[in-house]
Amino acid sequence: MDKKCPDCQVDLFEDYSEEVFEQEDGSMMLDTFPAWVCMNHCGYYERIETFEVIAQRDDDCFLLLYEGEEARILDLRDRILFPPMNVHAILSKGYWEDVRSNRDIGEEMKNIKRIKEWNR
Ligand SMILES: [Zn+2]
Repeated sequence: MDKKCPDCQVDLFEDYSEEVFEQEDGSMMLDTFPAWVCMNHCGYYERIETFEVIAQRDDDCFLLLYEGEEARILDLRDRILFPPMNVHAILSKGYWEDVRSNRDIGEEMKNIKRIKEWNR
């Protein structure tokens, strides 16, 4: 499966990309993640997401488990993907329920990219 940049029509290669965003307390957060990056370096990328949805809270907050026991909280109401933390630390704090939502988290994650434009 070849992935192409929609702007340049060249192949994407597997690399890392990063986004900087401002947290609620005003501090800046750097988020680095694996991504398909345009060979032209035009700035286009697609996140490579390898996670499993393991729990949820309310209807729009999900706990995503990544490799190495790292987990992230995904808040679809505010469209925020929080930085990774140890999954046990997250589960020990707060109340989590079994996943019952049918939402397509993979699809929803595409909109989450806008996190870099998020301001408080
Ligand atoms: Zn490109």
